[in-house]
Amino acid sequence: MRVQRGARPRLVGARLRGAGAALAGLGARVVRALDALALPQRCPSCGALAAAERLLCDACWAAIPPLAVPLCARCLARGHGGSAGLPPIGCVAHPGHAVWPGWVYEERAAALVHALKYGARPGLARALAEPLARAVPAGAHFDLVTAVPLHRARRRERGYNQAEALAAALADRVGVPLLADALERARATRPQARLGPAARRANLAGAFRARHPRRIEGRRLLIVDDVLTTGATLEACADAALAAGAHPTGVTLAWAS
Ligand SMILES: [Zn+2]
Ligand SMILES: [Zn+2]
Repeated sequence: MRVQRGARPRLVGARLRGAGAALAGLGARVVRALDALALPQRCPSCGALAAAERLLCDACWAAIPPLAVPLCARCLARGHGGSAGLPPIGCVAHPGHAVWPGWVYEERAAALVHALKYGARPGLARALAEPLARAVPAGAHFDLVTAVPLHRARRRERGYNQAEALAAALADRVGVPLLADALERARATRPQARLGPAARRANLAGAFRARHPRRIEGRRLLIVDDVLTTGATLEACADAALAAGAHPTGVTLAWAS
């Protein structure tokens, strides 16, 4: 017992030192998290003060070039503003594949997309609903808002789906019901980053399906994603929506040409 009594303080001491280090690490993380939440931050683009949830300062946010035309998810042809009194028109060859990107994807938009993807900024999705809502033409009406789905394994790994966060924020902002899981992945796909446009399309063909075909049939469905690149992802999502009898339109934060 005496030996144990003698040993015990050392053990407790070691435990306390370990706990102290863990607490210090936790403390640093909490401080960083509180920093990100509450205090004004420096804009990563110009160094000016910026509201935490918007990441960028007002000037840099406002300086991201808007893209006021729809693009075709299948062929990337630009649409145009339509004739007097009529809604803007997308690609005539591929109806149902129009996508409205809010911004041109440049370094400031990229910083926002990156921050959103890694969930570092609570409130950022809500702030980004503004350029999304502006991207959609004023006269257009929708019945449901949904998101490009992540594969379940990817979602587990990342903890959340940034497209879904945007879709929820947009639905809230424009007052249209959200059906977050209207579409689902029908199969796993390879990571897209290193694939060229043709390989991306082959990789994604038939990759999505409607999860609730009856609930989207005949409905005008707004499909949200973060970035439009080759269009392959939104093309495959629009195909799945069209196959279920829905009328899809895409909207993204930005277009990366
Ligand atoms: Zn700035
Ligand atoms: Zn087209």
